[in-house]
Amino acid sequence: MTWHILGAGSLGGLWAARLARAGLPVRLILRDRARLASYRRLGGLTLVEPGQTSLYPIAAQTPEETEPIRRLLVACKAYDAEEAVARVAARLVPGAELILLQNGLGSQDAVAARLPRARCILASSTEGAYRDQQFRVVFAGQGFTWLGDPREPGAPTWLAELDAAGIPQQWTTDILARLWRKLALNCAINPLTVLHACRNGELAGHAEEVAGICAELVELLRACGQASAAQGLHEEVMGVIQATAANYSSMYQDVAHGRRTEIAYLLGHALAQAGRHDLQLPRLEALHQRLVAHLVRLGLPTG
Ligand code: NAP
Repeated sequence: MTWHILGAGSLGGLWAARLARAGLPVRLILRDRARLASYRRLGGLTLVEPGQTSLYPIAAQTPEETEPIRRLLVACKAYDAEEAVARVAARLVPGAELILLQNGLGSQDAVAARLPRARCILASSTEGAYRDQQFRVVFAGQGFTWLGDPREPGAPTWLAELDAAGIPQQWTTDILARLWRKLALNCAINPLTVLHACRNGELAGHAEEVAGICAELVELLRACGQASAAQGLHEEVMGVIQATAANYSSMYQDVAHGRRTEIAYLLGHALAQAGRHDLQLPRLEALHQRLVAHLVRLGLPTG
């Protein structure tokens, strides 16, 4: 069965190249005809890995193509996912499967609400990739991807294709706990790295601030029925700060490059859920306000 991949950016390119080199049928769906023309001029997608750079001439198309879609990997940013999926919705066969790679929470529900007849599989990935040129992806960090479907616990049969393609993954019956945990880690670290203009490691010097934020995130996770995702959060945050001390967080990098952040699906989603549960989280509120003010000063979107 063909893997349609919506969004040929960092993660989409990384998945596409590995699936294609395993001999699986792959089609990239690019934003528009102009993108398709540039892609064709380059002759395909390049994946840069340690000791190996290869060009993969993967077939590509625009959303307007009519070929039916049975399996769709959605590899856009969280803020683009719903609109991008809407543009191919008419091509999805009944019972089509979507794999949603978006970070944070909120975009997955928005996509699922638009497609009541499709199965939406959620993913949480620690793999790292970035684009150094158009349609050229650098595989920067080995990682792992958790996949799951909160509405239907059975694993799909095609996970073996991912194994064959060398994409490390495992099915979980509690993908929401994984996504919430990652969201909480992200909320505890990333906004502070932007506001203090620092690498992850320097947050060790703001330990009290980090602890206060973690305490509120624990309250939120418990209120949202995610008590297991709350366990040992502060300890893990401090561990991540130490283990990734030399790194700049993804939000730091987005802001540094003048790119839109996924704040609405991270801190924004956390506060929206707190509101639904009538939970007062003053430290998280203040963090959000400071971050929004910072983005406004830089002329970047705040949602
Ligand atoms: P990215 O490099 O910006 O790629 C997103 C791609 O989506 C771009 O190629 C963009 O096209 C495309 N796109 C947007 N709207 C589209 C549309 N309507 N039709 C077709 N294509 C469209 O983003 P990414 O880093 O891969 O991140 C994707 C998601 O994975 C994010 O939620 C991110 O947080 C998560 N994630 C990323 C990593 C990582 O290491 N990169 C790791 C874990 C999780 P244009 O080039 O035309 O704008």
